[in-house]
Amino acid sequence: MSGERLRTYEGFPKSQRLVAIVVVLSVCLSGCGKVRSVNESSLLMGTVVEITVQHKDPTVARKIIKDAFHEGKRIDNLLSIYKKESQISMVNLKAGLEEVKVSGDSLYVIEKALYYSELSDGAFDITVGPLIELWGFGGGENRVPEKTEIEKVLRLVNYKNVSINREKSAVKLEKPGMKIDLGGIAKGYAVDRMIAILKSGGIKKAIVNAGGDIYALGNPAGKSGWHVGIRNPRNDSDMIDVPIDTITDVIKVKNSAIATSGDYEKFFFEGGKRYSHIIDPRTGVPASAIRSVTVTAPTATEADALATALFVLGEEEGKKLIKQLENVEAFFN
Ligand code: ADP
Ligand code: MG
Repeated sequence: MSGERLRTYEGFPKSQRLVAIVVVLSVCLSGCGKVRSVNESSLLMGTVVEITVQHKDPTVARKIIKDAFHEGKRIDNLLSIYKKESQISMVNLKAGLEEVKVSGDSLYVIEKALYYSELSDGAFDITVGPLIELWGFGGGENRVPEKTEIEKVLRLVNYKNVSINREKSAVKLEKPGMKIDLGGIAKGYAVDRMIAILKSGGIKKAIVNAGGDIYALGNPAGKSGWHVGIRNPRNDSDMIDVPIDTITDVIKVKNSAIATSGDYEKFFFEGGKRYSHIIDPRTGVPASAIRSVTVTAPTATEADALATALFVLGEEEGKKLIKQLENVEAFFN
């Protein structure tokens, strides 16, 4: 595992930026001996998922990439709250009523989420669902709610009210109206699963990018790691407070995950203030201490959850948390 900050990189052309928070800068396309690069994209989990594989046989690479996308789709179908039939939607539907049997994948992600809730002292909390809806980030209209509305909804937000029955592989939300939302961790898990499929297919060099949740497998031919550019959090044409078209950092990764959480993907303005989709479960208000944070970690599940947690905690508290963890690094912007 490695995550090394390389240098500041300015003037990266707009045309080369993806919808994703982070763009993969370096793909060895030529001069790599017999190894060839195959790159494919697919719309999954509401984002562009990009897989690059290096292999000597492009036909083999394409077949394995297809299997990996298939796995990503399977995970999305289990975990998405935007799919009515997903296991998580079922768990939400039965909140306060009964436990719901779930697959090993769903149970694993929920248990990991609860672990990061404990670790972050509640800054990361998948029971933020009702808050996400209240602020209109669940597909409704964005608005700043009244204080009383926030207080009411906050009673439903507490990861300690998620009960796990391991023997039965079942989950229960203890209060009616509770809703879990795996938006802060599910993409990371999907990336880990897609990487597992690539590895089981014999792939040794690949990078998977699910809208900024990334895992870099091995190193690209002729290079010691994959170069990942961190997008400037203030690149939006409507709100410029730093020069446009900049990538603030380039981080080199090998056998490591890298994830970014920022306030510039899903947000709205009201009264001159920016409100983004990561909500502080302790106040019920969108977190605003920092603009973006990038985390490198051994798995994408971990990097994804930690990036969201650190976004809520801010730089000072976030750095304290990171210090307790092995093989994890954080870059604040
Ligand atoms: P992105 O989805 O842009 O990659 P994140 O990984 O940071 O960004 O996830 C943000 C999503 O996580 C939100 O859209 C919401 O679904 C969920 N979320 C919001 N606040 C929290 C929180 N405090 N803890 C856990 N999940 C959260
Ligand atoms: Mg996240």
